[in-house]
Formats: sequence, structure tokens, C-alpha cells
Amino acid sequence: IAATDLIKASLEKAQRLNKYNAFVTITNNEAKKQSEESVSRYDTKKPRSQLDGIPVAIKDNFCTCGIRTTCGSEMLRNFTPTYNSTVYERLRNSGAVLIGKTNLDQFAMGSGTVDSIFGPTKNHWGFTEEQFHISGGSSGGSAVAVATGMCFAAIGSDTGGSTRNPASYCGLVGLKPTYGLVSRHGLIPLVNSMDVPGILTRYVDDCVSVLNTVAGFDPKDSTSLTKPYKSIKLPSANKLSIKNLKVGIPDEYHCEHLNSEILQTWNEIATFLHENGATVKPVSMPHTEYSIVCYSILNQCEVASNMARYDGVEFGFRAKENSSTEKLFATSRSLGFNEVVRNRILTGNYFLLTRNYDKYFNKALKVRRLILQDFDNVWEQVQVLLTPTTLTTAPLYKDFAQKTNREQCALQDYCTQPANMAGIPAVTIPVKLSSNGMPISLQLMGRNLSEPMLLAVAKFIE
Ligand code: GLN
Repeated sequence: IAATDLIKASLEKAQRLNKYNAFVTITNNEAKKQSEESVSRYDTKKPRSQLDGIPVAIKDNFCTCGIRTTCGSEMLRNFTPTYNSTVYERLRNSGAVLIGKTNLDQFAMGSGTVDSIFGPTKNHWGFTEEQFHISGGSSGGSAVAVATGMCFAAIGSDTGGSTRNPASYCGLVGLKPTYGLVSRHGLIPLVNSMDVPGILTRYVDDCVSVLNTVAGFDPKDSTSLTKPYKSIKLPSANKLSIKNLKVGIPDEYHCEHLNSEILQTWNEIATFLHENGATVKPVSMPHTEYSIVCYSILNQCEVASNMARYDGVEFGFRAKENSSTEKLFATSRSLGFNEVVRNRILTGNYFLLTRNYDKYFNKALKVRRLILQDFDNVWEQVQVLLTPTTLTTAPLYKDFAQKTNREQCALQDYCTQPANMAGIPAVTIPVKLSSNGMPISLQLMGRNLSEPMLLAVAKFIE
């Protein structure tokens, strides 16, 4: 199949299935142009890479030159960047074809893709005309685009679980790479010390192809790892082995709201690994329970600082208000941000007040250190941790939307955000369907830069 036909089919599918609301923008012209270029390369028998001519989608918080980048917000509704994020640049250079920018919670603050000015993204699993399950978030648009076959792979971002959560709810492989392995340049920041671009695909091997394309040092990101990236090549399925692999099952992830079918699946896979030669043992990570509150303090402090750039003058939305500069700033932000964003800015600034700084921000940094130490201690005993990704399968939108953003995140991110606090890699893999037909997924975590091992174990389970 020629790239032009493939891209045409992808674009048609994206348009035909717009009831799921996966895309903010479908990049028709750009995609057609790129696919024609790709075909001309094939004619000379020199495809640029495995991804040449392959359709991909990118979350709408990654800058794409000449293509609007909204962050699902009023503030950036009409913002068109003048440069490319490194992730997009690298995909483009490999010949991958962008078919669109995907929906997200406003500025990636959320766990459901329910808080976008473009409306919620709907999960195709269990979808009926009457009701739908959330896609998970905040990279829900990316997940639905891949899960429904509109594209081969999609890029999400992951600050507390935003790639893994929707991947898990939509039955996909979702990778949060080691912090710094994939450049953040051009990813509109949420929490700079935790953000990473994430990858959503159907299969582990596909995820590896994309990781090999986007990973590696980038001088444009000061936190980018300088160690040269070595392309990952996984053994074929029949050559994979987990003999002597040490797997930890953290006690503290057996938490209150964990659904019984997910617990059962978790036990089944632990047994499966054991039966195939791995040593599986319980481990303890005593600071896990503080992770949510610590995360929310650090998140809001960094948000308070990051959002200061949106003043109605330099970027995006400007209110019609000219009585004073202060009022211009305030009105632009009031009208440009939703309640979740405004809340986080206010709370973050409160935590950062001189009189509160030690009590909240500094304290949270210390707790973050303890959470990191939990992981370091565990790596002396095991190589990989097996946990649930989410505590339940995808909730129905009508139930989820009744909770506040804070309640939503506290429950959704319990198992995913510790990896962001520690900067370590984590991957979610679909395992089976629940009794009501929704995907159940599990998460693997490993020490920094253990992606080759982690993805091999993921492929073994797959
Ligand atoms: N749910 C978390 C939050 O709202 C994580 C979001 C993310 O990973 N982008 O902050």
C-alpha cells in the first residue's frame, strides 16, 4: 500500500470517527504533502526509516510549526507556534506523517480528557449512543486515535500518568520514558521537573520503533540526558526469556480503592512471571501513600510559575480590557483558563508565599526525596516492579464528571505518579478485558534507563 493511500485512509477514518472527539485539528493538507514526499522517496528505494510514510498523531501540547497548538484551552485556541517540538521534528525527519493534533485536558491538567474546551474525548470501548466511558487522560485523544486505528502511534505527555492512564483505559501500550531521555523542547510545560513525552501504540515493538526515533540528547533541552542513546532491539517473541528476572510486588499498591478484577489480574500475571522462571517477591515502599499530596503541592507550585507567561500580552488570548495592565493580565487569565488551571495557579502561589514556602514547597521536596529513596532501596532487591496502572477500568463519563478534578486525579494517578516523582521509566500493557468488556492493564517500572529490559518484559507478557 502506497503511503499516500494509507494516509488518505487514516484521514478518512479520523473524520468518519469524529464522534469520539480524538482530534482538535486534523492536519489534512500537511499530511497529504508529507505522504507525497514519502512516496517519492520510496520510488528511489530509500525510505528514511521504519516510520517513513506511517501515520502518527501528536498531543496538542507539543508545538508544531504553522499548525495551531491549543493545549485544549481558550488561552491558546488560536496559537500557532513558529517552531517545532523536538519530538515532532524527529518524527518528521524519520518520514512519519502527522495526521492531527489530539485532544487533552486543558494544559494537560487532568486524568480523563474531560476538561478541554473542545469537549471530552470518548472511549470507543463500551461506547453507545446513550453513554460512554472516559478515555482517560490527559492524553485521551492520542489514546483513542491509536486504539481506533486512525494512526499507528501517537505522542502523549506524562507528568503524573497522562500517557499511561489513557493507554490503560483504551487497551494500549503506553510508555513513560526515563526523565530526560526524550526531549521536552517544544512541549508546553506543566511540571518541568516531571514532564516527559510519552508513546502510545498497540504493540511493544511499535513503541520501540517510536522510542528509537524520538529519544536521545537534544541541546535545546537543558535537562536532556547527554549519554548517547543506543537503539533498542528486542529479541523476537520466541527468544525472549525472563529466567532469573527479579520482580517486586509493592505492598503499598494494594490500596483501598483497587478493583477486585484488577487485583486478580495483577496476581495472575505475577504467577505467570513466576511460572516462567522469574523470582517474584513482595517489597515495601513505605512513602507511597504520601506521593499524591506531595505531587499535588509540587505540581501546583510549578504550575503557578509556568502559567505566569500567559498574561494576554505575549501569547494567545488577550481580553478586551484596557483600563490597566494589571486588569488586562487578570481578565485575560480569567477568561483564558478554566477553573482547574486557575485553581492550581492560586494554590501554587499560596504554597510559594514566603511564610508558606518551607511548610509546603520545601517539605514536599523532602518527601519527594524519600519517595525516590524507596525506589533506590527496592532496586537493590529487584529489577522490575509490577503494579496496576489504574485502580479501576475506565469509569463512565457521567460518574467521573461528578467528581472534582482533585478527586479525579487523586484516585487515577495513585499508581502512576510515583514514577514521575522519581524520574524512572514505566510502561503500561493491556492484559485482558474485564467482565464488563473494558481493558485491564498493568504497569512495569524499572530503574533509570532500564527501557530495554522493561520493554522486553512487557513484550514477554504481551
Ligand atoms: N492527573 C495529573 C494532573 O492533573 C497528571 C497529569 C499529567 O500527567 N499530565 O496533574
